Amino acid sequence: MKERNEWNELTPDEKRVILNKGTEYPNTGEYNSFYETGTFVCRQCEAPLYRSESKFNSGCGWPSFDDQIAKNVTHVLDADGRRTEIICANCQGHLGHVFFGERFTEKDTRHCVNSISMKFIKD
Ligand SMILES: [Zn+2]
Repeated sequence: MKERNEWNELTPDEKRVILNKGTEYPNTGEYNSFYETGTFVCRQCEAPLYRSESKFNSGCGWPSFDDQIAKNVTHVLDADGRRTEIICANCQGHLGHVFFGERFTEKDTRHCVNSISMKFIKD
């Protein structure tokens, strides 16, 4: 995990999603169909966010995880109260949204995360 003065420089595309809460097009992200073993960290500050063991194929078009790494992902209710945004707890970068009650996995949780918000570190 990096301190603020060490955060990675973001490209315009990364800024659009991570800083301005944009969404990448479905089925385009580099980690959508990607099942190697390792850790997904924040693209901006490299805080560990998700383990590959919690990744599953939801068919939604974005990387999906049914669990997060401890307190490194913060849940924020959208202003309209309908969706829950997920952000990096360290740098507040936008990750995506989290959904419950869809019964994809036993944990009944789907973190729908933009690939561009993460970086993969192989074990
Ligand atoms: Zn971060």
